[in-house]
Amino acid sequence: MANAAYSAYPSSAHAGASLCIDLGAIRRNYRLLCRQAGKATCAAVLKADAYSLGAGRIAPVLEQDGCRHFFVAHLDEGIALRRCLAARSEIFVLHGPPPGAEQECIEHGLIPVLNSLQQVAGWRKLCHRLGRRLAAVIQVDTGMSRMGLAPDEAELLLLYQSSLNAIDLRYLMSHLACADLPTHSMNEMQLRRFLTLRSRFPAMPASLANSSGIFLGGPYQFDLVRPGAALYGLAPIAGEANPMHPVVTLQGKIIQTRTIGAGNCVGYGMTYRAAGKRVIATVAIGYADGWMRSMSNRGMAFIDGICAPIVGTVSMDSITLDVSGINEGRLLPGTMVELLGPHQSVDAVAAHSGTIGYEILTSLGNRFHRTYRDVSAACEEAPYGEAVSSL
Ligand SMILES: *Cc1c(COP(=O)(O)O)cnc(C)c1O
Repeated sequence: MANAAYSAYPSSAHAGASLCIDLGAIRRNYRLLCRQAGKATCAAVLKADAYSLGAGRIAPVLEQDGCRHFFVAHLDEGIALRRCLAARSEIFVLHGPPPGAEQECIEHGLIPVLNSLQQVAGWRKLCHRLGRRLAAVIQVDTGMSRMGLAPDEAELLLLYQSSLNAIDLRYLMSHLACADLPTHSMNEMQLRRFLTLRSRFPAMPASLANSSGIFLGGPYQFDLVRPGAALYGLAPIAGEANPMHPVVTLQGKIIQTRTIGAGNCVGYGMTYRAAGKRVIATVAIGYADGWMRSMSNRGMAFIDGICAPIVGTVSMDSITLDVSGINEGRLLPGTMVELLGPHQSVDAVAAHSGTIGYEILTSLGNRFHRTYRDVSAACEEAPYGEAVSSL
């Protein structure tokens, strides 16, 4: 059993890195997405603890801004989120109820997304048992082959229209596989399939678009859009200028520096050998914090806006930077260096590590000193006040 007395979650300036989440930027992103979504209602996707940024802090901010539709992946995420939101706000559970857990959805005021005939049958049974038409969303698979009813299963369901009437079906939903690539033919193909299926469920509101899908334009927006990534500042369209406001600032602390001569190596496996005299700074963030090992000899940090490349392999708790040429006075132990911020976006780091911004965000660890900043105000708690304000 976990020992409740053990908590290494840093609450102070002792932390090796600090993560600041700009709630004001999330609010501005939500407003931008609402405008972009035209007549569609804009929901918010808060699964995986709002992509690791803190659903409990973010949900009330979005609710304050008029958001009334929230999506999570798991039932338990919905149960936790329910405590942070007003009763009138609707929480949708993307994976639907695990078999036998239908009743829990109702007890916690959650609306399941039904992805299979089995889930539909389970929900219908509960409706009969409670004598109520209970709200649910029905997902159809339009080509991603991941979740939702296959088209023939949807047809089968329609044969039993009367039993479907037992459920208060709120939305017909599907999900796009290639929405971040606007010219990909899959987008139109999925749209066509979705429209065909939708014609079989007349008058039912529909939802197709994630963040990127919103930017594919009006035909993709239907009645409800479901952005996650763009709320948190990630670029919705691959290779295009990012219209979203950056949300995350991550700074790591220099804990040691040294000068090495030509021929000396840095880090595990000796993957970096200095060609000449080099100044190396060790920063207290590593792959255990989500700073991916694939950034070994590839990624970088910024000190006063100057690029300091990562040299050697990323360790569990530290990285090593080549800081040669940077003023010694800026390298004192305790100095914070920029890992995510104005000089380096989440998407840029993802590109260096061979992954996507989603994975960078959701990998962010829990050893950081986390702060939340709102609108233009300073961080609520600012242990590194100087460093934060200097960005
Ligand atoms: C995660 C998810 C979203 C949000 O996607 P983003 O690309 O982060 O906007 C929307 N719908 C479904 C079904 C999802 O799984």
